[in-house]
Amino acid sequence: MTPAPDRYAVIGHPIAHSRSPWIHAQFAKQTGEHVSYAAIDLAPAELTPRLRDFFVQGGRGLNVTVPHKQAVLPLLDELSERARIAGAVNTVIRQPDARLRGDNTDGSGFIRDLTHNLGFSVSARRVLLLGAGGATRGLLAPLLALEPAELVIANRSPERAAELAQRFASRGAVRGCGYEALGSQRFELIINGTAASLDQQLPPLPLAVLEAATICYDLAYAAGGTRFVRWAREHGVARCVDGTGMLVEQAADSFMLWRGVRPDTAPVLATLAA
Ligand code: NDP
Repeated sequence: MTPAPDRYAVIGHPIAHSRSPWIHAQFAKQTGEHVSYAAIDLAPAELTPRLRDFFVQGGRGLNVTVPHKQAVLPLLDELSERARIAGAVNTVIRQPDARLRGDNTDGSGFIRDLTHNLGFSVSARRVLLLGAGGATRGLLAPLLALEPAELVIANRSPERAAELAQRFASRGAVRGCGYEALGSQRFELIINGTAASLDQQLPPLPLAVLEAATICYDLAYAAGGTRFVRWAREHGVARCVDGTGMLVEQAADSFMLWRGVRPDTAPVLATLAA
């Protein structure tokens, strides 16, 4: 009799849109790893009991998405260095002694897509990061390590952006502000790390800032591009991409943490692009 597959899942709210189960199924097929991967919708109040249940019932690992990336921290036994720096977790690994370890592959996945798949060099460029939630936290340290000329975080609640910038200030030139304070500054790279796309909304980014950008990258993803991607394209931004590449790369990094093998992302990206 074939043993049951090792169980993995992504938890979030909402989660129905997630492509992670499909991506992990491709990785499992490609690597021959005997795993299953489900999408579990968890409202915030259910996080603590259901996370425990998942692991008590033999679950091996979880991906964590909106809105749980920070809320999950106190439920874990230990954190990787990058999850600690980010203050956010997107991957939970059950270790052989049953301790739960939190890690964060959002930053590594994003940087791999931006620099390797899209060929963008961050060094000495001006970068604007929209949003100050769980996803942006994971991006800050790896982005600053690439030494942009300046990294500006703009957020609807400006104090959250300022707080985040202060937290990362020792790692490079970073400051936080509200959207109005952006005026008509120029940025080569604009990253939409807000959750606005999930509600088909746009962050209140001044048009002058958008139109001066070379590349717009939305961390959210949607068939045909997110509203932000379509908006940027309509306003003449040369390269507009959604977060599909990041999604696949961060998934490959999580798979590597769980199974010890990093899948080849190229065929998965090619299928998604088609
Ligand atoms: P959080 O809920 O932690 O943070 C949400 C952020 O978005 C906050 O800064 C919030 O501002 C801001 N925001 C929400 N709605 C609006 C709006 N209408 N206008 C302007 N700002 C808004 O979410 P996450 O950081 O976890 O996720 C953010 C996005 O990144 C999501 O779309 C998610 O799908 C995507 N993502 C994609 C990944 C990928 O692999 N491609 C991986 C991780 C995330 P305020 O502080 O003022 O409330």
